[in-house]
Amino acid sequence: MNAPVQHAQNLKFPVLDNVLQVGGMSLIRLAERVGSTPFYAYDRRLITERVAQLRAALPADIHLHYAIKANPMPAVVQHLAGLVDGFDVASGGELKVVLDTVMPPENISFAGPGKSERELRQAIAAGIVINLESGRELERIVMIATETGARPRVAVRVNPDFELKSSGMKMGGGPKQFGIDAERVPELLARMKTLPVEFFGFHIFSGSQNLKAESIIEAQINTFELARRLAAHAPGTVRLLNLGGGFGIPYFPGERPLDLAAVGENLAALMPDARRDFPEAEFVIELGRFFVGEAGLYVSRVIERKESRGQLFLVMDGGLHHHLAASGNFGQVIRKNYPVLVGNRVEPEGEAQSASAVGPLCTPLDVLGDRMNLGHACEGDLVVVLQSGAYGLTASPTAFLGHPAPVEVLV
Ligand SMILES: *Cc1c(COP(=O)(O)O)cnc(C)c1O
Repeated sequence: MNAPVQHAQNLKFPVLDNVLQVGGMSLIRLAERVGSTPFYAYDRRLITERVAQLRAALPADIHLHYAIKANPMPAVVQHLAGLVDGFDVASGGELKVVLDTVMPPENISFAGPGKSERELRQAIAAGIVINLESGRELERIVMIATETGARPRVAVRVNPDFELKSSGMKMGGGPKQFGIDAERVPELLARMKTLPVEFFGFHIFSGSQNLKAESIIEAQINTFELARRLAAHAPGTVRLLNLGGGFGIPYFPGERPLDLAAVGENLAALMPDARRDFPEAEFVIELGRFFVGEAGLYVSRVIERKESRGQLFLVMDGGLHHHLAASGNFGQVIRKNYPVLVGNRVEPEGEAQSASAVGPLCTPLDVLGDRMNLGHACEGDLVVVLQSGAYGLTASPTAFLGHPAPVEVLV
């Protein structure tokens, strides 16, 4: 046989007659159905399976919340509304998307520094939980509460005094723009006692994109401990304990999926004490990419095969303007290839041949696959970037160079 397709071991989509199958049909037919390239496709079955996999691995009373910034496409969010226990939003725009679903407001939280007065007013009117990011934000919430007579639900987002080790993105520990430093939280909680807000609990989110179960386990142990210390100062019962998330997905060669069973076993061991110490709390794990990342594809068509000084380029109609992360320019330190394959010609007929899949933009950054086994692609073929269901379209500079936006479909 030829060199195997890269990352075939992680391939979540079936291959039939050498053609990728998406949503129960061949990619060729799906492209016809969509009507134009490039496009994003998200597979609802894979999203559903992912939620079921989490439910099976984690204790039954761990609630699952979806952080919609990973993929805020309304159809995806509507689909997840029937599967998860809550949503986390990070803007007024995202709030609108989740309020259009059946999710009850008490299961929706709003995190993020720099919430505008308008966003705070909307959140308070909606009755959702505001994850408080600073003492100053509390003052602004109290002003609105006093004026409107509302009693906003507030959970304190804590910037923990520990880190989530080996995370793709650290969002807690050390100086951070997120949350309130753990050592300053007791004073803030004391202040809250006399204010017209409803204390809801804690939000302790330490990081993102982690594939090491040991690191997540350590962070979860530290999170419960920190929550216990802080709860001693709480102005009311803790009704919400958001333990953060950080569950990563494999993107690059050599990365292995997170050992979910190990994370689940550890949580199961921690829960008896947690239930005793927080008898009225809902325990929440908040995830974005883990729900949707592996369920999504970005599909571009090869416009031209071009050879330059011994290197083959596949010039495609899609590129970094739609998928910044796959170009390596969304938080990667050293550029690595996302898994990419030729969707309508998965295995080469002859010898595997190297090619770089590049976009149409006039910048050398516009590379979606750098020297991969894609050289058997012909003009008109469909090049697929896998692991593209999270931080794809909405994390990309779509206005750059003025190409049309891609279609998104949920299949
Ligand atoms: C971005 C973010 C998430 C989602 O992160 P993923 O890596 O996609 O799971 C969850 N919670 C908060 C507070 C975030 O900022």
